[in-house]
Amino acid sequence: MGTENLITINSDGTLNVPDTPQIPFIEGDGIGPEIWYATRQVIDAAVQKAYDGQKKIAWLEVLAGEKAFEKTGNWLPDETLADIEKHAVAIKGPMTTPVGKGIRSLNVTIRQVLDLYACVRPVKYIKSVPSPVKDPQSVNMVIFRENTEDLYAGIEYQSGSADADKVRQFLNKQMGTSLPADAGIGIKPISATNTKRLVARAIAYALDNGFTSVTLMHKGNIMKFTEGAFAHWGYEVANEKFEDQTITESELWDDYQGKQPHGKVVIKDRIADMLFQQVLLRPNEFGVIATPNLNGDYLSDALAAQVGGLGMAPGANIGDRCAVFEATHGTAPKYAGLDKVNPSSLILSGAMMLVHLGWREASRLVRDALQDTISDKTVTYDLARQIRDAKQVKCSEFGQAIISNIG
Ligand code: NAD
Repeated sequence: MGTENLITINSDGTLNVPDTPQIPFIEGDGIGPEIWYATRQVIDAAVQKAYDGQKKIAWLEVLAGEKAFEKTGNWLPDETLADIEKHAVAIKGPMTTPVGKGIRSLNVTIRQVLDLYACVRPVKYIKSVPSPVKDPQSVNMVIFRENTEDLYAGIEYQSGSADADKVRQFLNKQMGTSLPADAGIGIKPISATNTKRLVARAIAYALDNGFTSVTLMHKGNIMKFTEGAFAHWGYEVANEKFEDQTITESELWDDYQGKQPHGKVVIKDRIADMLFQQVLLRPNEFGVIATPNLNGDYLSDALAAQVGGLGMAPGANIGDRCAVFEATHGTAPKYAGLDKVNPSSLILSGAMMLVHLGWREASRLVRDALQDTISDKTVTYDLARQIRDAKQVKCSEFGQAIISNIG
């Protein structure tokens, strides 16, 4: 296939998407192949319907995980990473984390090598999905979680190790701390550069997708130079890059009497613990949320629970060079090969990918048809046990039911 089928990225981050873009996929391990099969069929049907056959994705399988190991002896071939980067957009099923010394999580490796610095998780209620909260319809938030630093950067020293001792001695002797001799130590780096590129992406997303606010979630009252700095740099980049399109919360009240001005995004910040309360009690007040890694990890799953749990939650890891859309759950090995599990997470990630391509009509068809299918009570086992009089279907049948609803 020639270069005319390649998606390219402009210097401002926008994409040039041909009508038949080649998009790599990793089907994944465990339940991966089953949910991928359903997803691919649903996406193809929606694209066909939305554009009358004028657009079509040319899927390209790339190897990673168990399938790659069996065929090449390598869990994550360099060629796969190169292909994802070359094509700018990819989609993947879940992958087993190989057990053994020296082998890192494949997901983490993909994120690091391709510098996918934003973990993006839209959390939007799908009608009829069982939810533990009173008003799930109000939940429509998108979390932008910084992926490359914070306590997750992996700079850790085990209690009792020579390295922990070295760091402790330095801190106690030269920096005036008094750490106990048996302390394990973790380092929390948060930088202006990485914060700003994340928050800039979150603001651009809010503007493109009609969200009225970006909330900077942080714990800056306690961790001033990391979490506090995150909020500070967030406001700074809003000013530097989006001066005409953003206002602060106080400007909203002082200059606009609390009425949201058209075409502008309000930048606000909230302390993390308080935000956990507010997303439950007043979900209407939040749209895009940008946050450091650890807060984002907790918040993503807590919010997913409000709208039906991880089996329903889509996600993507996005950088300046490429974007990888993925199921947010794991490989569920005990269900592998049974054609039983819920493919919604990967299907909704596919819908998210279609928005990323600018193919919004196809994305809307996928989401609406999935919603109609669940409203008809045609669902996989996980939802069937929570919905009265549900018709329990297999993973593949659920995919087919969605396709029927696309029409
Ligand atoms: P898991 O998400 O695979 O499964 C936990 C349980 O959740 C399953 O037993 C099942 O009951 C339920 N579940 C998960 N997905 C479902 C779906 N689509 N439909 C219905 N029910 C579903 O988590 P785990 O058991 O902790 O991890 C298994 C493997 O997956 C490990 O090797 C882990 O490293 C890997 N993993 C990969 C990813 C990823 O690739 N993004 C994420 C998490 C875990």
